[in-house]
Amino acid sequence: MCNLVKKALINIDYTVDFVADEGKLTCGKPGQELENYIADLTETFLQDGDFVALAIDAHTEGDTHHPESKLFPPHNIIGTAGRTLYGRLEEIYQTHHDNSLLYYFDKTRYSAFAGTDLELRLRERGIQEIHLVGVCTDICILHTAVDAYNKGFQIVVHESGVASFNQAGHEWALGHFKHTLGATIVS
Ligand code: ZN
Repeated sequence: MCNLVKKALINIDYTVDFVADEGKLTCGKPGQELENYIADLTETFLQDGDFVALAIDAHTEGDTHHPESKLFPPHNIIGTAGRTLYGRLEEIYQTHHDNSLLYYFDKTRYSAFAGTDLELRLRERGIQEIHLVGVCTDICILHTAVDAYNKGFQIVVHESGVASFNQAGHEWALGHFKHTLGATIVS
């Protein structure tokens, strides 16, 4: 079957530090409940020949210049177990890391577009529609969605694939995606 619109899945920050009980900045249970949805969707995209980007927060120990150092406890430090992908997504990454459809990259700001080559990767593949999953709905998903909107991408947010440690923020962001960024919300 031929897709008229080329799409990509952007998988954001689904790591131990953001999801596991012992994570440094964890969403806890709401984040853990996304595991199978995110894993299944990732496998579906790969099986269908669609591009999957894993945009993963990367911090350096003791980096006092980073603006987040004043806002959040240290998290996703390069080289620590906390930065490992959570649950089944890590298994999928290990299985498919040689697959050219799968692109794992570091990001250092909330948005997956900030200071990365994500836009170039999407443009060179002719991708017009991006699907968003991961955490946190009202921080990294939100900032990525705002950048995607400003760059002219169509946005699909998977409600069953996003969560936050702030439930009110999660719900606000879902409304913002739909009503202000023109995103399609699916679950
Ligand atoms: Zn961070």
